[in-house]
Amino acid sequence: MTRQVFRERDCVHRDEGAEGEFYNGVFYVQALQRLRVDQAVQVASKVSSFFWADAPHILVWLCNDCATELRLNDKPRALSHATRRQA
Ligand SMILES: [Zn+2]
Repeated sequence: MTRQVFRERDCVHRDEGAEGEFYNGVFYVQALQRLRVDQAVQVASKVSSFFWADAPHILVWLCNDCATELRLNDKPRALSHATRRQA
């Protein structure tokens, strides 16, 4: 029961077989906040929603197009596997 469970969200394009990656929920929220409000609303409408307070426990799968809109794909450290601590 102590195992940390990440919940997953994804954009609508995943079902269409688009290429994409998991991003840390915190980076996703930060990226949304950098956008203009109307852009942020548009991108957020394509991703299943979650409480921003839960972001540290959320992995967000984004296709390349959505990641580009959020400008996350030029930030390799935003990728979920890069956030794990090295032993
Ligand atoms: Zn997408």
